[in-house]
Amino acid sequence: MKVLVAAPLHEKAIEILKNAGLEVVYEEYPDQERLKELVKDVSAIIVRSKPKVTKEIIDVAPNLKVIARAGVGLDNIDVEYAKSKGIEIVNAPAASSRSVAELAIALMFNVARKVAFADRKMREGVWAKKQCMGFELEGKTLGVVGFGRIGYIVAKIANAIGMNVLIYDVNKNEERAKEVGGKLVELDELLKNSDIVTLHVPLTKETYHMIGERELKLMKPNAILINTSRGAVVDTNALVNALQEGWIAGAGLDVFEEEPLPKDHPLTKLDNVVLTPHIGASTVEAQERAGMEVAEKVVKVLKGE
Ligand code: NAD
Repeated sequence: MKVLVAAPLHEKAIEILKNAGLEVVYEEYPDQERLKELVKDVSAIIVRSKPKVTKEIIDVAPNLKVIARAGVGLDNIDVEYAKSKGIEIVNAPAASSRSVAELAIALMFNVARKVAFADRKMREGVWAKKQCMGFELEGKTLGVVGFGRIGYIVAKIANAIGMNVLIYDVNKNEERAKEVGGKLVELDELLKNSDIVTLHVPLTKETYHMIGERELKLMKPNAILINTSRGAVVDTNALVNALQEGWIAGAGLDVFEEEPLPKDHPLTKLDNVVLTPHIGASTVEAQERAGMEVAEKVVKVLKGE
């Protein structure tokens, strides 16, 4: 049986596939036309956030039994259509949680201490000490929107730093909130009272543009927004206005409504924003964990275990 690995995959994961007697075809990020050719005789496809596994691709892969996402989000896979054809979908939902949570914390410190801005100025030969007045995180209030795998870790680290933690989630888990010294509140209360708001909800119909003009105006003028979830959870135009007009003080963003972020996007012109190119899961540890977990799951499906 053949497995198409259509995105970068940790070598230990490839080893797992080969040791199980599977033939591995490795081609990183083929375009849709090439993908159509590659899937013709494969039993499994392994992707990351790319390439797209659409109905069109599934229709030309008669042997396909399993589609694996070495990571979390399944946005690039037509899950419903695959399932209707009896194809299994596997992913590694927890493999990158720690990495994403650590990036969210890194962005908080970065924006609060203007690290990226200071670095840019240094490279321009400017000693921007006066413009780099920051603030400490200890004693400040962090609002965690979405208290799942990632939100929980972020809250736990924030609690350890000495931050107060407010939590908003549709699922009210008092026990877990208590574990991180957090308080469950409604979204508006969280927005009004947090010095930093960090987003960890999935992108759904309900969370699309969950943070728009109304919500940004509820936040404190000296507050910071961190988004490592999905770009479309935030209304980007409203966020640009908020940052330009001082409704909030800054933002740290790893995800965008349009990725890659267009070169001259207004966000790139703002000094109070730290931007990273969707690198939440880009750590050695997360990639190794995600790769190995999906490789093991693919083997199980193909061996009928
Ligand atoms: P999770 O499913 O463990 O947690 C999500 C939480 O959001 C759940 O507790 C759920 O109850 C809550 N939620 C869902 N809809 C809600 C709503 N309408 N209002 C309030 N709460 C709601 O997910 P996770 O593993 O913690 O991942 C969170 C996000 O991080 C996802 O959007 C995922 O796509 C993103 N992510 C980003 C990267 C990156 O590279 N930046 C990597 C991995 C995951």
